[in-house]
Amino acid sequence: MYDLHVHTTASDGVLSPIEVICLAENCRLTGIAITDHDTLDGLEQARRYVTSKKLRIDFIPGVELNTDYGNDEVHILGYYVEDKTGALSNRLGEIKSERYLRAQRIVSRLEELGIHIDFEDVKRMASDDLIGRPHIARALCNQGYASCEQEAFDLYIARGKPGYVPRYKFTPEEAINLVKSVGGIAVLAHPGLIQDPAKIHQIIDWGIEGLEVYYPEHTQTQRNQLLRLALENNLLITGGSDFHGTGAANRSKLGCCGIDDQHVRLFKEFYQHKY
Ligand code: AMP
Ligand code: ZN
Ligand code: FE
Ligand code: FE
Repeated sequence: MYDLHVHTTASDGVLSPIEVICLAENCRLTGIAITDHDTLDGLEQARRYVTSKKLRIDFIPGVELNTDYGNDEVHILGYYVEDKTGALSNRLGEIKSERYLRAQRIVSRLEELGIHIDFEDVKRMASDDLIGRPHIARALCNQGYASCEQEAFDLYIARGKPGYVPRYKFTPEEAINLVKSVGGIAVLAHPGLIQDPAKIHQIIDWGIEGLEVYYPEHTQTQRNQLLRLALENNLLITGGSDFHGTGAANRSKLGCCGIDDQHVRLFKEFYQHKY
């Protein structure tokens, strides 16, 4: 079993890349992809650990790019992203700065609403310097404004809530092209969370190469629909848990969702034929 969707402290996960690899070993996963939001920062540490300890686990480098498409949040997974030219890191560097400014704006917006969290506190939640809304949610919980991360989103910072500040401009189309331009495979993350099915077809037209069919929040009906869609459009099928570590808003367990070794073979063959 491979879990192809996992977060670490490099973005908004709770465990470090090394801790995630150790946990994956303990769960007896054959392979794991680390797919932090908008950063490659955890990959080197994980890769070095696997190599130096001569672990058997198959480590796949990845990333999850958070983009917007109208009112829908669309996440694009990139696998085997290699950044030889620096094009990807450059764009991710810009995004990191934009995230920092956006987090400051959210904190000011909350301040205007009479909700006082310290920006320094938010920065501490993000042990690496990539700040996302989940870090703000954790700061809100620490200050007693919410009892859990989900409540912090629901009350303050989800789209449409008073503390919401839109993200910088980053479209699914740009993210797909960016992943492919650095030799990666572009996969649509959790398509079942996209409200408008027409958008999925548009994302397929933009050149997505796979669909994350197996995802904890997908119902059996959604899985069947997505499987059919993948077959009709000749797309790869992937799956993953979206593990963030215990305590995070997303409580799925590492390895609770994924794809078997057979499917990973197709995935790897696709990659080898492509490059
Ligand atoms: P950001 O990229 O900083 O806008 O944060 C996006 C992340 O926040 C997503 O990857 C989710 O993990 C989380 N998130 C977004 N919307 C919600 C929501 N309504 N409830 C809980 N978590 C959410
Ligand atoms: Zn996350
Ligand atoms: Fe996601
Ligand atoms: Fe994720």
